[in-house]
Amino acid sequence: MREKFQHFMTGRYGADDLSRVYIIATLVIFVISLISGWGILYWIGLALMIYAYWRMLSRNVSKRYEENQKYLNARYQVAVKWNGMKKRWAQRGTYRFYKCPQCRQMVRVPRGKGKICITCPKCRTEFIKKS
Ligand SMILES: [Zn+2]
Repeated sequence: MREKFQHFMTGRYGADDLSRVYIIATLVIFVISLISGWGILYWIGLALMIYAYWRMLSRNVSKRYEENQKYLNARYQVAVKWNGMKKRWAQRGTYRFYKCPQCRQMVRVPRGKGKICITCPKCRTEFIKKS
C-alpha cells in the first residue's frame, strides 16, 4: 500500500506551504459553513479542497514550485511590513515617521523639534514637516 502510494506520487508535486494554506482555509470555511448554515460556503470549501489536492497531485512541478515561491515571497513582504509597523508603534513616543514624497522611503525624525527640513537619506529630496 505504502509502495503503491509512493509510486503514485513519483513525478507529482506533493505538499508545500501554499497547499497547507489551502487545506487550513478549507477547514476554516467548512467550520464557518457548519456554524452559519450557509450552504454556498460548503461548495466553496469543497472546490478549494479539490484545487488543493489537484495542486499536490500535479505533474507540472516547476509551475507549482513557482506558485509556492510567489506565496512565500508575499508572506515575507507582509512579515517585513508588519515588523516595521511594530517597530514604529514601539517608538511612536519619541519619533515621528514620514514617507519621502519622492521615493516613498520611510524617514524617522525625533519628536518635538518644531518645523524641520527633512532630507531623505535615500534620494536626498528635502521636505518640510512638523516633528
Ligand atoms: Zn526619498
